[in-house]
Amino acid sequence: MRRKIAAGNWKMNGTGLDLAMLADLCDRHPAPRCDILICPPAPLIHRAAQTVRNNTVAIGAQDCHAEPSGAHTGDVSAAMLADAGASAVILGHSERRQDHGETDASVRAKAQAVIANGLTAIVCVGETLAQRDAGDTLDLITSQLNGSLPDTIAGHSNVIAYEPIWAIGTGRVPAAAQIGEVHAFIRSTLGQRFGPETAAAIRLLYGGSVKAANAAEIFSVPDVDGALVGGASLSVADFSPIVSAL
Ligand code: PEP
Repeated sequence: MRRKIAAGNWKMNGTGLDLAMLADLCDRHPAPRCDILICPPAPLIHRAAQTVRNNTVAIGAQDCHAEPSGAHTGDVSAAMLADAGASAVILGHSERRQDHGETDASVRAKAQAVIANGLTAIVCVGETLAQRDAGDTLDLITSQLNGSLPDTIAGHSNVIAYEPIWAIGTGRVPAAAQIGEVHAFIRSTLGQRFGPETAAAIRLLYGGSVKAANAAEIFSVPDVDGALVGGASLSVADFSPIVSAL
């Protein structure tokens, strides 16, 4: 049985003042039925991990460098994130693929580093609206999975997030059948490469305009093991009902 996950991606939002939200979230969910993960901006990770210490919310990062150290100004390594208190790292988010030119190969190298450091890799895939309209969604997902997932993803508690780019921050959500089609396809593609046991163990999150109002319907879709939530993870009032829906 896969334990479900409510993961929040704060993106480039939040300062120390916003960490009170984490304490509140812990208080509201002292014994959650699902894993709860919040990924704040890198400067907040250490303080966030201190804030939720001994509590029910885990802290993650939004990116990392593939190398362990060196001349990479502005970057942070997976080991540094682990040292700061992160237990997971989002990789290959579409905003990083778009804004920073990240490729499947670079995402794969980062995922390798994350897994080697004992952290959970959350690898994001998803199509643009033009790719969906052209009927290319499943081909695109196939090539992103083939290119972005390292072989080491098998045997760890790693996660894949399906995030259609046209649904991120837009209020547009695919129909349940569309989400189900892609999640089932991802599960079967994982099975072909890694075998049925690994495919059955990897958790698949849906991401893109998940809100309290649509969470229950999305979570009822087969093969959806939770959500990666952007905007609605910034406040307890918005995020807590999503946690409760899992
Ligand atoms: C995201 O950034 O991963 C995301 C899904 O954002 P939102 O929930 O705001 O659409």
